[in-house]
Order: sequence, then structure tokens, then C-alpha cells
Amino acid sequence: MSSRPGCRLKPIRALRLLLSSLPAVMLLTACLAKEAQALPSMLRVQIFEMSKDLAEVDIDGPCELLSPISKDFGRSSRMNVINRKGKLAVTFISSHKPPRSHDRMARASKGSGDAPSLINAERFILAASSRDGVGITVGRNHRRYRGRLVFTAINKGMRITNEVSGRDYVMSVVGSEAPPHCPSEALKAFAVLSLMIVDRKPDGDTIGDSTKEQCYKGADYATPEVERAVSSMFKKRLYWNGSLIRPYFHSTCAGGTSDGVSIFGNDAKGLDYLKHVKCTYCTQSPFWKKKTSNISAVKLKQILASQTVPLIDERDQTGRPVSLVLSGDRHISGYEAWIKIGRSQGWDLVPGTRYDIAAPDGQGSIKITSSGAGHGVGLCQWGAVGLARLGKSADDILTFYFPKTKLK
Ligand SMILES: [Zn+2]
Repeated sequence: MSSRPGCRLKPIRALRLLLSSLPAVMLLTACLAKEAQALPSMLRVQIFEMSKDLAEVDIDGPCELLSPISKDFGRSSRMNVINRKGKLAVTFISSHKPPRSHDRMARASKGSGDAPSLINAERFILAASSRDGVGITVGRNHRRYRGRLVFTAINKGMRITNEVSGRDYVMSVVGSEAPPHCPSEALKAFAVLSLMIVDRKPDGDTIGDSTKEQCYKGADYATPEVERAVSSMFKKRLYWNGSLIRPYFHSTCAGGTSDGVSIFGNDAKGLDYLKHVKCTYCTQSPFWKKKTSNISAVKLKQILASQTVPLIDERDQTGRPVSLVLSGDRHISGYEAWIKIGRSQGWDLVPGTRYDIAAPDGQGSIKITSSGAGHGVGLCQWGAVGLARLGKSADDILTFYFPKTKLK
């Protein structure tokens, strides 16, 4: 992302940036009519929602057990939580042991080591005793969370819900979504869009922590730089004709963003700020270059419910398909086809909405070539980083990608 070697985003992280732009579309269309409101005082975030096997976690302090009994745990306290026959058994881990020992199964069968269970309950609640948050270790991942943590036994594992203030949530999301060494003006631009998404959530809303929503990785990502950026933009929002805009963003436009109507059709009709802008500020993105993937013709036809290989029959001025023809002369929008392929095959097969579908080869394999990452409407995240590096302000960046809007 920067011209300095070593500051480039790794593809996996860049892919996360891409994915972060997907849910924005889905979330926003549902809640656009709502007016601006204060950030929710509390959100319930299901953390580690994508972890398939949440059967055992470790906790480190400082924290306070609120339910079913009250107890204070100091900073050096470490506990193990395991689902044992439908109940969560919490035991202290002795301080000389690493947080995650290799004798997990032995511990489980013996009752998590030598200490008796502190509690054995279907549900318990912890609260962070400081702004550093409570530490949670799942496998090799260690993260810290502010607010309260509700642990609930489900099946053979557990669900962990972090009850966190809207403000702390936004701080973490901006830091979790941003590339490392992200310039502060780009962070500020991301903060405005994130605040606008979170504004619309009702108090106590339950959401996930993955890119299906916005990426949320806890307190460690709310760095001092991120906190400064969010605080400076806390009361600023982006308006067009006196109304709040739909804060669409994506990872990489790879040459230009698209008109909203080219991608979202009538959903974006009349939104004059969702207009094509030429962008060559995202060249440092790994998605700037074209990517070619293979898929079998049979699979592609199955995904799009077509007897024939889809043909692109209309493109917008940036080369993104607007419409594809399927069997029976049916049509599907380029965006809808892209969503179907992504949901079925994962988003790295066709990362961006600017794509080409070749004719099948002799083996029935089809090459799909794409450039960019994400839907291609609104703010280009890599471009925002590029513009910030050229000295542009958050205001400049936002009004560049959302023409005719005002930050106020
Ligand atoms: Zn761009």
C-alpha cells in the first residue's frame, strides 16, 4: 500500500479488505430510510463467529466474574473454559503453564488440570476491569475485548458474545479493517463510513465479528492512531442534498469506480453521488493486476441455474458487466452473478466485479479473469490510502469518491 517495501498489504489481508465491502451492500439496503441517530450505547457482537470448533478457550485478566457468582480476577489470572457435558467448566490455569498447553485432551478428560472447577454452568458473564480488555485465546488467536463477555454453552462448544459500546466497537472496526501503517487521513475517511453504518444499528443489536458484517478484532486494534482518527470524525457525517449518503466502500477499484446503478440497479437510482470516478491511486493493491481463475462449465452453469454458459451482453464504462444472458434468454445482473459465484466458491475466485468469462476449453474448463476487489462502488479503500499518502485530507478523499457530497 505504500511505496515503501514492507508496507504492502499481504493478499490475505487485502482479501479481508475486499470482503469487508461485501456486507456493506447487504446491510445498507435494509436500513437506508433511517435518519441519523446516535451510536448505539451497546452492541452484542458474537466473537470468533467463524471458528468452527469453539469447544475450549482460555481467558486472561484483569476481569471480574459477574454471574453466576461475583469474583475479581487480577491481571495475572488465567482460566480455561471447556464444555463438559453441556456445561462450561471454568478452572484456573497455573501461572507457569503456557496459555494453551498441548495436553488439551488430557486436561479435558481429567477436568482441566489439577484445580477444581471454579464454576460449572451453562452460562457465565465476565466484565473487563480495564480499558485493556479481557484476553481470550482460541487456538493460536489471542484477542482482547472491552465491555462484558457472555459465555453460553451450545452443543459441545460455546458461544461468546461481547457486549461493547458503539464507540468502542467503531474504534476496533476501523483498526481491524485498515491496512497496517494506514495514514491518518485514510483512517479518518474509513471512520466516517464506519460511523455511518453503526449509527443505524439499534441499541443492543446482535451482530457477528466477521467480514459478513464489519471485521471486529477487539481492543488491540483500537490503537491510539485509530482512536484519534475516530474521535476527530466522531460528529462528522457525509451528506448529499441534505441527506446522509449510503456509505458504500470496497477494497480496490483497479482503475475506476462504477456508477451505483450499473452495479446495484434500481437500488441506487437517483443517487448522484454514486458515480464513476477514475482512480489510479490503488496501484499498490494486490488486486490492481488481473487475476485469472478456472471453474468447470458444469459448476458455473449450476451456480447460475443456466443450461448454457453465461454470456456478458452489457458492460459499463469501467468494463464491469451490467448484464449476462442465461439459457432461455433470461438475464441476470453482473453483480448478482458475481455474488452467486462468490457465495458458492469463496470470494478469491473472482475478487472483483470487473470480470470476463471465456468460452469453455476442450476439457470443459472456463477461465474467469477479473481485476479489482469488491463491488466497485463508492470509496476505494486502497485508493483512499494512496490519496492520503499524496497529502489529501479525509474530506478530499470522501468527496473524491462521493462527488457532490459534503462532510459536516
Ligand atoms: Zn481505486
